[in-house]
Amino acid sequence: MRKVMIAGNWKMNMTTSEAKELTAALLKGVHGQHELPEVVISPPFTSLQAVVELTKDSHIKVGAQNMDYRESGAFTGEISPLMLLDLGVKYVIIGHSERRQFFGETNESVNLKLKSALKHHLIPIVCVGETLDQREANHTDSVVSTQMTAALADLSENQLKPLVVAYEPVWAIGTGKVCAASEASRVIKVIRQAINSVHAGLGDHVPVLYGGSVNSKNIEEQLAQPDIDGGLIGGASLKADEFLTLIKAGAKRKQLTTHHR
Ligand code: PEP
Repeated sequence: MRKVMIAGNWKMNMTTSEAKELTAALLKGVHGQHELPEVVISPPFTSLQAVVELTKDSHIKVGAQNMDYRESGAFTGEISPLMLLDLGVKYVIIGHSERRQFFGETNESVNLKLKSALKHHLIPIVCVGETLDQREANHTDSVVSTQMTAALADLSENQLKPLVVAYEPVWAIGTGKVCAASEASRVIKVIRQAINSVHAGLGDHVPVLYGGSVNSKNIEEQLAQPDIDGGLIGGASLKADEFLTLIKAGAKRKQLTTHHR
């Protein structure tokens, strides 16, 4: 059974004291709750230590928003997987469209980072998605398939077991324009096929999240699609009440999935 996941990406928001406040509110909200989905929050690097410390005996896991693929060296300003592990970070987001768009990430760098995350036992959340121009040119399926297969290059099925993928259409991120759930589900099926083209059957086991303007009003529609295993959430992960509602929706979906099988 695929895990159901609600993952927050705080992007370049939150000072450490704000991060602690938000984390405390989330911990209060999930306290004593059962059947929770996998819950991940991804603060900026500067707050990772504080947030790991606060969440250490809880159901909330902590992710980084990016990392360098190398372990150490003369790479000014970069953060290595060893540094994340040392802090107790469990997840890492790889290839977010903002990294691809503004910081020169390529399918090749995503592949290097994915290899490194897996080698160091950090759980990778690999992001793929098309721009508006690519969608309008009818290139969505080929773009996401290429991004996906390139990310997986030279990795065995066994190595890829922890993989989590997020389908994030670039035009839907931070715009309030959510992708219709039926269309998100269709593209996610294309992503699963791309994974299956590299390792037959693996695509059916990898949790694939939808991301792009998810909020408490549209999450249920997304999670009603059997192929959508959760959400990667930017803006709505910055407000405790909103994110707790998304976690509840994930819990409901998890119960339904468990019940049906
Ligand atoms: C994201 O940053 O991955 C994201 C999906 O952002 P938002 O939810 O704000 O669209």
